[in-house]
Amino acid sequence: MQNYDYIVVGSGSSGSVIANRLSEIKNINICVIEAGGSNQHPYIKMPAGFIKTINDKRFNWCFNTEKSSNVNNREIFFPRGKGFGGSSSINGHLYVRGQPDDYNQWAQLGNHGWSYDDILPYFKKSEFKENGNEDTRGKDGPLFVSDIVEKHPICEEFIKGSKELGIETQEDYNSGNQEGIFYYQRTIKNGARFSAYDAFLKTAIKRKNVDIKKNTLVLKIIFKGKKAVGLICERDNKEFQIYANKEIILCAGAIGTPHLLQVSGIGNLEYLNQIGIEPVHENKGVGEGLQDHYAVRVANRIKLPNSLNEKASGYKLVFEIMKWFMFRRGLISYSPAHVGAFLKSSPEIDFPDLQFVFTPASYTEGMIGKLQDHPGITCGVWQSRPQSRGYVRASSNNIKNNPMIQPNYLKEKIDQDLLIQGVKMCRTLLKTSNIEKMSVSETLPGEHIKSDNEILNFVKNNGATVYHAIGSCRMGVDRSAVVSPSLKIRGLESIRIADASIMPTMPSGNTNAATLMIAEKASDLIKKDLN
Ligand SMILES: Cc1cc2nc3c(=O)[nH]c(=O)nc-3n(C[C@H](O)[C@H](O)[C@H](O)COP(=O)(O)OP(=O)(O)OC[C@H]3O[C@@H](n4cnc5c(N)ncnc54)[C@H](O)[C@@H]3O)c2cc1C
Repeated sequence: MQNYDYIVVGSGSSGSVIANRLSEIKNINICVIEAGGSNQHPYIKMPAGFIKTINDKRFNWCFNTEKSSNVNNREIFFPRGKGFGGSSSINGHLYVRGQPDDYNQWAQLGNHGWSYDDILPYFKKSEFKENGNEDTRGKDGPLFVSDIVEKHPICEEFIKGSKELGIETQEDYNSGNQEGIFYYQRTIKNGARFSAYDAFLKTAIKRKNVDIKKNTLVLKIIFKGKKAVGLICERDNKEFQIYANKEIILCAGAIGTPHLLQVSGIGNLEYLNQIGIEPVHENKGVGEGLQDHYAVRVANRIKLPNSLNEKASGYKLVFEIMKWFMFRRGLISYSPAHVGAFLKSSPEIDFPDLQFVFTPASYTEGMIGKLQDHPGITCGVWQSRPQSRGYVRASSNNIKNNPMIQPNYLKEKIDQDLLIQGVKMCRTLLKTSNIEKMSVSETLPGEHIKSDNEILNFVKNNGATVYHAIGSCRMGVDRSAVVSPSLKIRGLESIRIADASIMPTMPSGNTNAATLMIAEKASDLIKKDLN
């Protein structure tokens, strides 16, 4: 029988942090279990490899959402990282913390210890940011956050053009005030991806007190009464059990964590019973409340022959690959988005509620994947704090069958209204004199799409996930909350959740930074209990 003090399920963004911080204590031992492999592949290292890993089952669970009438009955492709680093190994590298009020709202909901002032030290603890303001930015952490070094001339024109619209340049959107236009900060070091594996897990697995089991799927949590004591795992088609003396920490992400809990008998017992799962503990919140960012993109065909599209095929691509291997520069070192903006949908509101991404490239059907074969530019937008909520539900009693994922995009009217406004603002940003002089025509949605109804239909037909699943095991103090503010699962013993699933509401930004912060704080909470 294998026995450890702590077992961490999942080696993604959060699992990597937990493994690192807990293994700082020499007299405890930790086992990390990861369904995927070690992810040491050039596509993971190359920032532009994003376009390859987005649908590669070696590194990605490649889920699909359930259909929904709000998105014109489409199933939407829903990637999630698999392997060391989890989603941080296939993500778009953007480092965005959100707004102070996002976290103050968490605290106002009863989650004491999670206000902006409380969690800022954890954001700082995880990062190393060159030239950051020391009041808000970290300089001793393991996660390398860098500024973009190569500024594309079309991006420069986009930013210059936005001045016409009265948009200010934002020096550091991670300093507490987001509003304005900027180049994105990225988890990239010397032109290569710097995932949670690079920052946290790599160090942890070199330590003697960490055992990592890759290509190992956790099938079920073993409970003795209400106490989590171990896991049933499978590797190479063989089942085995491992046990935790102290705690099991779930870091399987906003899809994997509720799914594992449900197949282990934790959730809505009436529903679990219907699909043949033996009940352990009723918690109706498990899997409910899933939120995600839903983006749409406006694209223009342009005259200038220097967008990224023309570099992405033939001998030019070979040249770019060589350039990356030799100098870590050029096309292959680029992230999917270069410039960003946080803007208000209306001057009356206090804080930005729309996030924009700009890329000097355009994609077939607007979806990140295949670049178009003519020069193009794209401006995408999503609502910072969507109100619609959905669910993750086990589809059977076997974890190997994908769960049903229903984010319910655009269910709430406000989410629809804000995206209509977002598309209009993308169009305005692409019509400044700097951009107009290089544009041929709008290719997406196309100039024939004019009325609010037409725009909404375009949004429903063309939007996609921005990959920011959260909230499916919500932290809170009410009866349907899954974890308490100390991240312990309510009603159970010796089990916590430390990943993106616990976020009570969506932070105004991409979710990796917030997930790392949660795991930093979780590590401290666990250490405090140990003492
Ligand atoms: C394609 C993509 C692009 C993104 N772009 C950005 C971006 O640019 N910026 C940003 O801030 N955020 C981005 N995100 C979101 C961000 O990366 C995630 O919010 C964050 O990584 C979530 O961390 P996590 O620890 O909760 O889950 P993950 O990092 O997904 O880790 C979960 C891990 O658990 C493992 N696992 C799951 N179930 C089991 C099981 N039963 N047994 C064993 N192991 C299991 C998985 O294989 C995975 O490795 C992106 C995400 C994706 C998918």
